[in-house]
Amino acid sequence: MVKVTIDRDECISCGACWSSCPDVFAESDDDGLSCIATEYQVNGDLATGEIPDDLEDCATDGADSCPVEIIHVG
Ligand code: SF4
Repeated sequence: MVKVTIDRDECISCGACWSSCPDVFAESDDDGLSCIATEYQVNGDLATGEIPDDLEDCATDGADSCPVEIIHVG
């Protein structure tokens, strides 16, 4: 498993992460900001996830796409 975190308070909701890696990232229905996809959230935390190893490259692509560099993988 690989840990993924999003500093959600700095998200500008550009959509780049969930466009490039929709398996891991999503737009929150609550506030329109990026969140971890529901199935990978840890204890329902929108900002913290644990993903299978085979999604690490996808999550890294999402992190690399973020213009404000607030996604951390691993
Ligand atoms: S790429 Fe970054 S700023 Fe854009 S929606 Fe995702 S987390 Fe937010």
